Amino acid sequence: DATIAGEFERIMNWADKYRTLKVRTNADTPEDAKKAVELGAEGIGLCRTEHMFFGEGRIDAFREMICSETEEEREKALEKVLPYQQGDFEALYEALEGNPVTIRFLDPPLHEFVPTEEEDIKKLADAQGKTVEQIKAIIDSLHEFNPMMGHRGCRLAVTYPEIAKMQTRAVIRAAINVKKAHPDWNIKPEIMIPLVGEVKELKYVKKFVVETADAEIEAAGIDLEYEVGTMIEIPRAALTADEIAKEADFFCFGTNDLTQMTFGFSRDDAGKFLNAYYDAKIYENDPFAKLDQTGVGKLMETAIKLGKGANDKMHLGICGEHGGDPSSVEFCHKIGLDYVSCSPFRVPIARLAAAQAAINNAGK
Ligand code: PEP
Ligand code: MG
Repeated sequence: DATIAGEFERIMNWADKYRTLKVRTNADTPEDAKKAVELGAEGIGLCRTEHMFFGEGRIDAFREMICSETEEEREKALEKVLPYQQGDFEALYEALEGNPVTIRFLDPPLHEFVPTEEEDIKKLADAQGKTVEQIKAIIDSLHEFNPMMGHRGCRLAVTYPEIAKMQTRAVIRAAINVKKAHPDWNIKPEIMIPLVGEVKELKYVKKFVVETADAEIEAAGIDLEYEVGTMIEIPRAALTADEIAKEADFFCFGTNDLTQMTFGFSRDDAGKFLNAYYDAKIYENDPFAKLDQTGVGKLMETAIKLGKGANDKMHLGICGEHGGDPSSVEFCHKIGLDYVSCSPFRVPIARLAAAQAAINNAGK
């Protein structure tokens, strides 16, 4: 209804006048990104790239990569994924019209990508010229007892640098194409490395990311600035943020993992006992929905103090689920984040919460 839409616009515009926190969105499809932009998102704070590998034409190539034994074979398989990934990123840059887009490199363990159906395992074996038993042995070798604390995030980039290199090429080529098509847009890719817990991990991965990106930019003969930052989602990263900040253009707090690892319980299974904890009045809220300000929040404050102390130019955001929760948004305002990033439909709530936070804390 036109009146309601008009009133909504009016309230949101009013909120925007007061808030100092930017509001970005978590999106990995152009549809979600456009919806979020319509709702007022000022950028993408987290583009998870994992779903992109499942699209038609690429999952087969990606599985081929997983089953390959040499770096050369893996690179060849990833070459087939690259144009798809580049197209995905181009569509996101187009949807954001020059607003920032943070692209997070592959995060989940590789066993999430392997086939489970006999028929698909056989197809993969045939395509690879291997036996079904050989493919099953590869799949079994990827099994982990605790995959959320396992071979994922930047650990994948350390063991399979070719994946991160392919993603770097896709990001830079996409950015160059969109920049050429829209010279007036401010296209500055933000590459985000997940699950860093040690500065040397970031340094190691960043080295080949930068080499790959610079080679692409030079080959294209175009000026393009880009940033390499990290998620802060492991307590150790927060506690050593002064070291990490020297290698990072930005920090983005992944409070889903940071909550899981600070509390020491699984984000997927905590629901099984949390109700008893509410009844026993041990916890009042689900820490995965509402930021635990005295525990996880304290780690965030520590990371900001240490990080900004070492690199005052860095920018700071949050992209865990908490970025769309009003009381958590207020906390993010108070500790000095530059933006919150939340799912598209929470963008208006985050805009209002950010305005409320600015008003509540004015002059403090
Ligand atoms: C997080 O851990 O908070 C995060 C945003 O990353 P993901 O949910 O994809 O692990
Ligand atoms: Mg995470």
